[in-house]
This record gives sequence, structure tokens and C-alpha cells, in this order.
Amino acid sequence: MADSESIENLDRCDPLAPLRGEFALRDGLIYLDGNSLGPPPRTAAQRIARMVDVEWKDGLITSWLAADWSSSPRRVGDKIAPLIGAAPGEVIAADSTSINLFKCMAAALSLRPGRRAILSEAGNFPTDLYMMQGLENFTDGRIAARIVAADQVLESLDDDVAAVVLTQVHYKSASIRDLAAVTRRVHDAGALMIWDLSHSAGSIPVDLNAAGADFATGCGYKFLNGGPGAPAFMFVAARHQGQSQAVLSGWFGHRDPFAFTDDYQPAADIQRFLCGTPTVLGLIALECGVEVFHQTDMQALRRKAQRLGRLFIDLMSERCSGYGFDLASPDDDELRGGHVSFRHPHGYEIMQALKANDVIGDFRAPDILRFGVTPLYLRYMDISNAVDIIHDTMAKSLWDRDAYRIRTGFT
Ligand SMILES: *Cc1c(COP(=O)(O)O)cnc(C)c1O
Repeated sequence: MADSESIENLDRCDPLAPLRGEFALRDGLIYLDGNSLGPPPRTAAQRIARMVDVEWKDGLITSWLAADWSSSPRRVGDKIAPLIGAAPGEVIAADSTSINLFKCMAAALSLRPGRRAILSEAGNFPTDLYMMQGLENFTDGRIAARIVAADQVLESLDDDVAAVVLTQVHYKSASIRDLAAVTRRVHDAGALMIWDLSHSAGSIPVDLNAAGADFATGCGYKFLNGGPGAPAFMFVAARHQGQSQAVLSGWFGHRDPFAFTDDYQPAADIQRFLCGTPTVLGLIALECGVEVFHQTDMQALRRKAQRLGRLFIDLMSERCSGYGFDLASPDDDELRGGHVSFRHPHGYEIMQALKANDVIGDFRAPDILRFGVTPLYLRYMDISNAVDIIHDTMAKSLWDRDAYRIRTGFT
């Protein structure tokens, strides 16, 4: 049983508790959506102000070198690398996850000439599937977007599959795929593996190189706390960097951009996968987010996230059973990533009512309520208080109002 005294004790004994102070969070807010947009690191406001008031205002164009703007995609990539089991020089921070998926698929196809299919699972995050479909349309069907049921992916491998695109932690259920085992099976079939780590990076320990992964990408604004629309990251295993083609062959991926030659000559290293001018403001905010992780380690964060998730599930069954919530995430702490999802036929209205009461999660159509359990800044007491508010919302039917039924474009 989780009484309030034992929950307070969990917070008192939490070695990660001081890290909450690294974030600017409004008092009274229970923020359970760090899996969708992380809160601002305290350092971000100051760092961005310095960038604008000093580096940009005073340094102007000289800051590309003097303030290290030009190296920021690599510098930030190198700071993300240890969180995902990559080596220095294997990660850049640039573009969006969607664009990086396209870059990864094109690079993989260039390494597997003759193979013409990209394989993924139905129910993957939509942009992953949409980018595959865009590639199919663009090539007039020469490259096939093969989308199969989640449990049919490995069975569908054949010698036409150039690459497999999968998300390690599912955005709805938070169920975790075995990165190493899947990569091995894909390699056994002669294909390459592209991992979408949007819900993994900064949430669970990831070891891309131990798994022999080929390509990966993921968001900067979710668990990495890089701010709205933060640059994403892209991983290319060192062994593929010189061989694979950068299809978005912009000047920043050129061997010598400032030679201004007419012919494209790709950089030999990860630089090749840059396209245009880095988005420096975004990179600087992302860097602040990533640096917080260097104060702890992914194992410790994972342990606390598992405990927060366990507490959430246990308290929901203790205090909210009978209100129609169905757990939509794995109950096994080892198989569940950084959020807990419940199905409910009135999920949309319930989430609107919770938000009005300062419990922020999100809703994923058609019926999923998602609650992020982000260990950097959440307290065990936040989980307990959130479940109490969910209980109140249900017991008093607070969700049952017309205002909460109005659908907005952004959930
Ligand atoms: C959030 C998310 C994305 C988002 O991609 P953007 O290009 O940043 O909008 C992609 N894939 C997965 C699995 C996600 O969860």
C-alpha cells in the first residue's frame, strides 16, 4: 500500500530529487507530458539571452567561428552520443526527426543497391510511415513502402528489403522493442536497421553500437528538453559514414562548403549528413537540455522512471478502479518506457478536465490518455497527487462538460 507517508519517504530518499531544481516549472503544476515537450532547463533563458545580446548583437557574423556556432550540430551531437550508446563523431543535431528519417532511408538504400523496399509496422508514429510513403511516391513506386502488422515485421524480411524503420519505444503504449535482437534479425536478412529513438533518448538506456545499429534519429524536444521544435539528432554508424549517400546534399554537407565549387563533394564524416545552415538558437537551447543529463546517468534515471510508472499504475488500480480505465502500456516495468497510457472511451474529455486542474498529460486518438513519468523533475508525490485529481475528476464527473468535448487541432 502506498500511503502518503511512504510516498513522502520515497521523495526524501530520492538521489535524483535535486535535479528538479534544474528546471523552470510553475508551482502547483503536475507536468506529465515531458515525453511530448520537456520543460525549459533553467540555464536556457540565460544562455539564449547571451546568444542574442552578445554573440549575435556584438559578434554578428564573426560568431560563426568565435562563438562556435558553426560546430554546434557536431558539438551537441557529441553530447547526445553517450545517451544513446554512440561514439563521438557519430551523431549530429540537425533538422527534424521526419527529415532525418528521410536522410536515413536514402542513405540505407544507397548501401543496398538492388533492394527496393523499406519495411515498417502499422501503428508506427505517423510521420515515419508518411515519410516512407513520400519516398514511394517520389520514386513512382520504385521504392516500396512496406507496412505490415507489428508482429509480422521480422517475418516479412526478404531480400528485397533494404532497411527496416522501427520506433524503439512506442509512442502510444510505451512498449519497448529489443534493440539488439531486432537489429540482429534485420542484419541476418541482409537489411539495415533505422531506429527512431524519439521516445528513447533521455528516457531509457540505449546502446546503439553494442546492438550494431546502422542509423538512428530522434527528437530533441521530448525527453531531451531542447524546447519546442528543437533540432532532432541523427546517428550514422562510423562504418557507414564514408559509404552511404547523403541525398539532401546541401552545402553544409560538402567537404569544403566555403570553397564554393559547382560540384558536390561530400564530407567524409558525419558532416555529410548536414544539409543547410544550422539553426543555432535551437541548438543552443537543446544543448542546455542535454547537459542536464551529464549530471546523472541513464541507469539511475531509468530506475526512477520505472518506480514512478509502477506507482502510477498501482495507485490507479487502488484509487481509480471502476472508472473504466484500461492500462494500455505493458504492466511489466522492464517492458515499459517513459510514459504510462490508459484507454478510456471519454479519454479526450477527461484529459481536458485534468489540464484545467493543472495535471498535464496528453491524448492520442482514438482513446489513449498518456502520462509521462520523467524522472529528472517529477516527484513521487506528483504522481500521487495526479491520481487523486484523476479520482476527483471521475468521482465528480468533472469531465462531463460540453466545453471539454470541443476538439482542438493539437492534442
Ligand atoms: C514525436 C515523434 C516524431 C516527431 O517527428 P518530428 O519530425 O519532430 O515532428 C517522430 N517519430 C516518433 C516516434 C515520435 O514520437
